[in-house]
Amino acid sequence: AKKKGKNQFSLYTAELEQQRIRKSKIEQLLHIAVENQEISLYYQPIVDTVSKRIIGLEALARWSHSELGYIPPNEFISIAEENGLIVPLGKHILKTACQHLKHLHKMGFNHLYVSVNLSLRQLRHHGFTAFISRLLQETALEPNCLELEITENIALSDEEHVVNSIRALKNLGIRIAIDDFGSGYSSIGYLRTISVDTLKIDKSFLFDVTTNSNTAQLTAAIVTLAHSLSLKIVAEGVETKEHLRFLEQHHCDMAQGYLFSPPVPFEQFISLLYNNPSP
Ligand code: C2E
Ligand code: CA
Ligand code: CA
Ligand code: CA
Repeated sequence: AKKKGKNQFSLYTAELEQQRIRKSKIEQLLHIAVENQEISLYYQPIVDTVSKRIIGLEALARWSHSELGYIPPNEFISIAEENGLIVPLGKHILKTACQHLKHLHKMGFNHLYVSVNLSLRQLRHHGFTAFISRLLQETALEPNCLELEITENIALSDEEHVVNSIRALKNLGIRIAIDDFGSGYSSIGYLRTISVDTLKIDKSFLFDVTTNSNTAQLTAAIVTLAHSLSLKIVAEGVETKEHLRFLEQHHCDMAQGYLFSPPVPFEQFISLLYNNPSP
């Protein structure tokens, strides 16, 4: 028994060691990838539940490495958040997303907005709002075509600089969305202090909204809450027609999920637009 215990222990440390090696490898390669702008963006349509038209797009970071293959954003973004690379990477992401949106506007799809995920570390960075302001000037985009997604954790931050940055972004005319709304341990008290435009209901709600009456009632209540605060509401993780029907019946404004399309490269997103009911 003692021997087995020891083997299990070494198995465990071997696994931890593997993880540590992968993480430091990714970290090393990420520096190069950010510098060479190897990280690209995929886009997922955000659809109006009434007209079924694509009205927005969420930018999602993608990284495939020749040796390591596809590295999920959850993995490399959290590493970039830890080591601070998220600041230059985030700038690259924001710049690319705005340039792509500009391109779409020039093609005549000028009703579209782009939604970009933010990390706390970016909002902590002095000069972030100045960067956004410059970016809007350079691309000549209307500020309300840019939406920045923050999680509830970020919204709950009481760091003065972060709170001020969010206010400054709002003052520029940018839209703020709360991402993964309703997930994790959260309070909605921040809705009193920061001004938000959109709530994105976490995809865990959609997962059993058509089979669990508690989830259904809670989801309906979140839509009502959003509307009574004059916020727009997006449901994430919409995978089935039943999901969409529920959202239509409960007047959820927008839907995003595999039912419409997974995130796709920019060129492919353009094809989606051409196949979408026209204005
Ligand atoms: P998120 O912001 O909540 O993004 C939505 C995730 O759900 C995406 O995963 C998307 O591919 C996936 N998804 C979309 N539709 C469906 C569906 O119908 N069903 C299911 N089960 N999933 C769906 P992805 O692209 O792997 O991104 C994971 C997370 O990584 C994102 O979650 C976001 O937190 C983070 N992330 C991605 N790109 C960026 C970025 O540019 N900056 C930052 N800070 N975080 C990012
Ligand atoms: Ca998001
Ligand atoms: Ca989300
Ligand atoms: Ca998320």
